[in-house]
Amino acid sequence: MDISTENLEKVNSDGGIFYVFSHEQSEMLLAGSSIDSEVPKYLDALSGKWSTIKKDDLIRLALQKNNYTRNRWVGLFVAYHDDAYRRVDLQMGRCRDCDWAGWIGTPLSYELYIFNPKEASRLFDDAKKMKPLCCPKCDGKLDKHAIWTESG
Ligand SMILES: [Zn+2]
Repeated sequence: MDISTENLEKVNSDGGIFYVFSHEQSEMLLAGSSIDSEVPKYLDALSGKWSTIKKDDLIRLALQKNNYTRNRWVGLFVAYHDDAYRRVDLQMGRCRDCDWAGWIGTPLSYELYIFNPKEASRLFDDAKKMKPLCCPKCDGKLDKHAIWTESG
């Protein structure tokens, strides 16, 4: 199967463009579909994490293609937060106040922004200003700056 970028949601956020996949399109992508006839690179790392989080509509797979990716499609995760999709790194998070632990999406990973070397520092500083989410179980403070959390 081939997915056309015309059928994907094009988003310009965090200093660059990415294409957001519906969950159905994500399944096709991870099953080996090409995008505009080109097979994306480095999806294996995303695939494992995706299988654990795919039930939540606020977290999505996306693809970007720019100078940093050498004009190849490369996958990333984005989270819907404050009315926009933002680039996130999926990590394990913990609550400082209770026993909750689970996947969180943090915008505070410098690597998310190095595709745009001139703006990376500013983008990272902007990400620090995003309002972090609290623990989904007790509303306590998490050990990471999360803008998406796995539900409690
Ligand atoms: Zn908690």
